[in-house]
Amino acid sequence: MVDASADCQLADGTPKIHVLEPGKENWDVIRDVAHSGVQEEAFYVLDVGDIIRKHKEWKLKMPRVAPFYAVKCNDNRTVLETLASLGASFDCASKSEIAKVLDLGVETDRIIFANPAKQVSHIRYASSVNVQAMTFDNESELYKVKEHHPTAKMVLRIRCDAKRVQCPLGIKFGAFPKDAPRLVALAAKLGVDLVGISFHVGSGCDEPEVFERCIVIGRQIFDLAARDYGINMTLLDLGGGYPGNRGSSINSIAAIVNSSLDRHFPEGCGVDIIAEPGRYYVASAFTLATRIHGRRQLTNDDEDADGPRTPANTSYFYYINDGVYGSFNCMLYDHAVVTPLLLEPRPGPDFSCNIWGPTCDGLDRIATNAQLPLMDVGDWLIFEDMGAYTLAAAGCFNGFPVPKVYPVVQPHTWFFLKERAPYTESHFVMGSPSPLPAADLLPKISCAMEMYNNSSSNNNN
Ligand code: PLP
Repeated sequence: MVDASADCQLADGTPKIHVLEPGKENWDVIRDVAHSGVQEEAFYVLDVGDIIRKHKEWKLKMPRVAPFYAVKCNDNRTVLETLASLGASFDCASKSEIAKVLDLGVETDRIIFANPAKQVSHIRYASSVNVQAMTFDNESELYKVKEHHPTAKMVLRIRCDAKRVQCPLGIKFGAFPKDAPRLVALAAKLGVDLVGISFHVGSGCDEPEVFERCIVIGRQIFDLAARDYGINMTLLDLGGGYPGNRGSSINSIAAIVNSSLDRHFPEGCGVDIIAEPGRYYVASAFTLATRIHGRRQLTNDDEDADGPRTPANTSYFYYINDGVYGSFNCMLYDHAVVTPLLLEPRPGPDFSCNIWGPTCDGLDRIATNAQLPLMDVGDWLIFEDMGAYTLAAAGCFNGFPVPKVYPVVQPHTWFFLKERAPYTESHFVMGSPSPLPAADLLPKISCAMEMYNNSSSNNNN
């Protein structure tokens, strides 16, 4: 039985997942926390069910492509545990990401060390914990691996850039296809185990056709390695790039990937297909709530200071408690465009406003010339689709804390998860995040549990 009065954290500090009362939605949770009277700092609500839905969608739409979640995108413990419990695999960029994933009990063959330029100590660590798959795109990496992890299974990353992309990555990594013969030859000469080819078309890809180009290039290099060096590679890694915001879809990418794989790597060809989705899994699962703690009114110089304030003569600055040195680093690093939403409706016309983060830096601006009704200090602004490349790179510049995350699930998702390692019943707490004493929630929770206990035998979700 889950203890309704249990503390909301596990012994290692990981927040427990709140099992919501039936009918309660994420925005209700945000309202409860924001209006509790005790919440001042910005916070996130993490909808764990959203990650599960994404995983199901992926399996349905690209059944031949095994997802290796890119931990760098958001290394929140609940995200990793949820994906581990679903049987997903992981793309790690460093020793500490590998350690985090291994700590969940994930087997080493469910990890690819997908950083083409690795420090020697990280390569040695991978060797010591038996992580074998790793990427490279240059000679020096092959020599390092030969010396420090001679049994590694090497995946050659090739550059193939999408024409329209949020974050180009080919500028940094990926050997040009013309250089592949030289690198394959060196792997053969060194006796390094070359097992496959990987790509990353760029993050936030808006050109699905690029995946066809990758697969064609991949096929050519597979054929070259077999023909000229007798190397029969067994892994094709399609990298990341898949969209994850609300309203986005992987349908067009999936259609192209599936048909292209059927043509060039048909089922039974002996090649495992994997990908490294990051933002796809987490972007829409995280909603950020921020609080306005300062407001400044700006009026046109030629206006009567005591006259009526209208959108024609007045604009506002709002200061909120998360900014570009925190979650909104995504605006700088990920070229993200964010949209403020009102937690509660506000009457009156819209005024032009700038929204600023909490630090003293002029760079710390979240919106310029946004249109909002007149807001008060203490009002909350909500930002959806904030799971990708936000918390992972957030810092505490000027002493402002990184927002806390409240993970939540619907009761049926709790039933689905609590039986799956690494989850146990102790990972969950009944009732939405709330300053209310647990006793006040007990009647509602008992009723919900009874309902779901009764239906659990029919629940094959
Ligand atoms: N794989 C590698 C090697 C990456 O560098 C990245 C992102 O930088 C990803 C996967 C994840 O990409 P995305 O979030 O676009 O799916």
